[in-house]
Amino acid sequence: MTRRLGGGSLVIATHNPGKLKEISALLEPYGITCISAGSLGLPEPPETGTTFVQNALIKARAASAAAGLAALADDSGLSVAALGGRPGVYTADWAERQWFEGDPGRDWYMAMGKVEGMLQAHGPGTDRSAAFHCVLAIAWPDGEQAVYEGRCAGSLTWPPRGDMGFGYDPVFVPEGGEMTFAEIEPEKKHAISHRADAFAKLVADQFDA
Ligand code: IMP
Repeated sequence: MTRRLGGGSLVIATHNPGKLKEISALLEPYGITCISAGSLGLPEPPETGTTFVQNALIKARAASAAAGLAALADDSGLSVAALGGRPGVYTADWAERQWFEGDPGRDWYMAMGKVEGMLQAHGPGTDRSAAFHCVLAIAWPDGEQAVYEGRCAGSLTWPPRGDMGFGYDPVFVPEGGEMTFAEIEPEKKHAISHRADAFAKLVADQFDA
């Protein structure tokens, strides 16, 4: 049986204020008080794993050990079937501009173009299926852990469409639909996304929902 949070304080191992807000809103109805890793001054460990599960656990374990409390971390990204699952855990890195290009930072159009270029190099008729993944990991200071994996299957389109969402949303069409994640109202995206899937599994396992 999985260890349960059972109310109380939970460190959210993210330095991203948007993620903290979204995760707190989802967990507070279950009596969980969310504390950000940033507000505790916890360092961000290097994400050296080769899978989403490994990276989520690295972040959750580091925050739990440093704070002496239960901690939750997430790791997410896009995997493209014809590219052997890439960019996978390197999803954000593929958007990273190099310092010598003069303007460091993330360029999502460049990242989407890189994926598209690789798909087109496979020739016409290439399998364009892809999936967004989200792993949520909880770690307790005594070493116990729980992992929840969410997935949203779909396919990649080109050129990018839509101006809502973020990251690779403008090229991702979820299964059974025609609009990209960047054309769908955010509430609708949040109901079917990989993150929603992982959270539904966490809530079902952790709380008497
Ligand atoms: P991380 O989980 O913060 O390491 O981020 C992984 C990367 O995956 C993000 O920077 C996004 O580019 C991408 N990603 C994760 N979820 C989504 C999504 O819902 N839409 C578009 N891109 C996403």
